[in-house]
Amino acid sequence: MNTKDIKTRAYHITYFPKAQVACLYFYGCNFRCRGCIRRRCNFDIHLPPSKQNGADRRKKAFLTQSQILSTLSKEKVKKLIFMGGEPTIDSNLALLARELKGKLNTRNALLTNGYIMPDVAFFDEVCVGIKARSPRLHRDYTGKDSERVFANIKKFAKSGVSLRAECVFIPEYIGVKEIGRIARALSRTDADIPLRIDAYIPVPGEKWRRPQKKEMKEVVDQAKKYLKEVSFLDGKSKRRGSDSVRALV
Ligand code: SF4
Repeated sequence: MNTKDIKTRAYHITYFPKAQVACLYFYGCNFRCRGCIRRRCNFDIHLPPSKQNGADRRKKAFLTQSQILSTLSKEKVKKLIFMGGEPTIDSNLALLARELKGKLNTRNALLTNGYIMPDVAFFDEVCVGIKARSPRLHRDYTGKDSERVFANIKKFAKSGVSLRAECVFIPEYIGVKEIGRIARALSRTDADIPLRIDAYIPVPGEKWRRPQKKEMKEVVDQAKKYLKEVSFLDGKSKRRGSDSVRALV
């Protein structure tokens, strides 16, 4: 590590060669979501199961800025996705985004739960993963309040970044009505914000089930009452098609 190097909370990097997209994974989160996919896997879920061993080797393997730069410099990276965990709890996030954009000319995208408003000067895109709209439900699911998230969504919208949102549909819990509340709240900021609804994938320790196909259609129709662009992932198709993913770190 050189004297100007900075520490980060990043521990894992994957790369999709066909799309020229890299994903940078940050350790830890300020939420405690009951349905968090990290309960199933600490690594990129697109990797083959043999490489998703879930071993908690992250704290020993935090990467420095120069390690990340040197790793990504070996590939052609058009778009870099900062994800996790929760990237905004890394106090060096803005410095890292600036450095990587400056040196590699990446299009930087941030995936966040929206609870912390980061400096987005060196981000081109922000996607907020919205857990719920109702304060009681949001607190039950994440341990934190939803008001701050929706206040920050307004700030992201004003910042000029390309903004979109995602949420997870959990039948009988974060159900059709609640997804409708999320969509309605988003529309009050801007009805043009695209929303993607993901089907819940069961995690250990929770009894919720996956939604059925007809329920996915119902929830998408509900969100479309408020927003112009609504898409969904049914949890069965691969998110990036047949593009093969490689773990770089
Ligand atoms: S915000 Fe995301 S990473 Fe954090 S606990 Fe919730 S689902 Fe997991």
